[in-house]
Amino acid sequence: MTHKVYNWQIGRDMEYKYPAARPKKQATWIFDTNKCIACQTCTLACKNAWTSGRGQETMFWNNVETKPWGFYPIGWDVRILEKLGPQRWDSDRYLGKTLFESVPYGEEMLGWMPDEEDWAHPNLGEDEVSSQIAEKAVFSMIHSSWMFYLQRICNHCTYPACLAACSRKVIYKRPEDGVVLLDQNRCRGYQECVRGCPYKKSMFRPDTRKSEKCIACYPAVDSGLQTQCNVTCIGRIRLFGFKSPWDRPRADNPMDYLIHEAKVALPLYPQFGLEPNVYYIPPIHVPTKFTRQMFGPGVDQAVERYRNAMDDERLVGLLMLFGATDRTLDSFKVAGDRATGHCAGYDADGREIVRVPITEPTILRNQYDEAFDVHRFSVT
Ligand code: SF4
Ligand code: SF4
Repeated sequence: MTHKVYNWQIGRDMEYKYPAARPKKQATWIFDTNKCIACQTCTLACKNAWTSGRGQETMFWNNVETKPWGFYPIGWDVRILEKLGPQRWDSDRYLGKTLFESVPYGEEMLGWMPDEEDWAHPNLGEDEVSSQIAEKAVFSMIHSSWMFYLQRICNHCTYPACLAACSRKVIYKRPEDGVVLLDQNRCRGYQECVRGCPYKKSMFRPDTRKSEKCIACYPAVDSGLQTQCNVTCIGRIRLFGFKSPWDRPRADNPMDYLIHEAKVALPLYPQFGLEPNVYYIPPIHVPTKFTRQMFGPGVDQAVERYRNAMDDERLVGLLMLFGATDRTLDSFKVAGDRATGHCAGYDADGREIVRVPITEPTILRNQYDEAFDVHRFSVT
């Protein structure tokens, strides 16, 4: 039996195994793909925190892959996209079928199971560009080849496929913040969650014969902190917070503002139907023909808005708050103009916890510093 649920990311009702049970607030991540340098600090921070044990050698709850040729596991998205068939949109409304609406007989959703080998090459395709560069070619603007980095964790989906797939009901979504967890004590390792999750973020651990997945660093989140992959991010591309329900966004909530008002942050493969809660500011240098399939029909508008972010104090001010604090922000406020103004972030009690200038000051220093008798290589 299935239920009709509303999925705002595809602009329509769809079928899901259980009735809608939205949390009061939803744990949400926003990643700015334009700023990532693929240093993999987030990947290692997550691995050191959660998956450094035996049997977890090729398990990366956080990975960063180079699109279009990087995949972890191999072919994770192209394989399910091909199975799903045509994915047409009419403006913001998805006309094709979701994974829950294309169910093979006897299964809960359209899925597939990776082989052991598929998980063994997390860095496949790193830094490879979209097309071959001809011999003796010279670069000119606009580049004919492109690539970008895609940061991936569990999406803590509103309609999780892993949860729907599990016949033992081992996976649950916390009502207080929408974090999706897997009860290790009750898991019997059937791996239906691995088969069902189209993002392939539920993983099997061979030595314990149980499945494991990202736990949204819940001990940190419960203490008002952002997740480990966020706070260690070198590029300051990440922001974690709580999204309001889609039909009641708050203009001063950083997540609601970027997703629902500025509309610069978009879900990954919304057509799958899971309503994922990791949102991406799409790469602005990549042909939108490619990114439209990946982030949905809002890509062109998002790219345009982001390109013109410098004309919008509110947007550029909030982008400066990414990576500025390890604490979770409940609201933000921008004051002043672009040259002299600032953006401040507040906790749930309205206390200011961080303040950053909209334009970072530039300080020029002499190459030779008489006070310390040292020569500087970097003078900015
Ligand atoms: S991304 Fe996959 S593992 Fe995570 S909640 Fe969604 S379906 Fe489950
Ligand atoms: S730490 Fe940040 S910049 Fe480095 S790979 Fe991860 S997301 Fe990208």
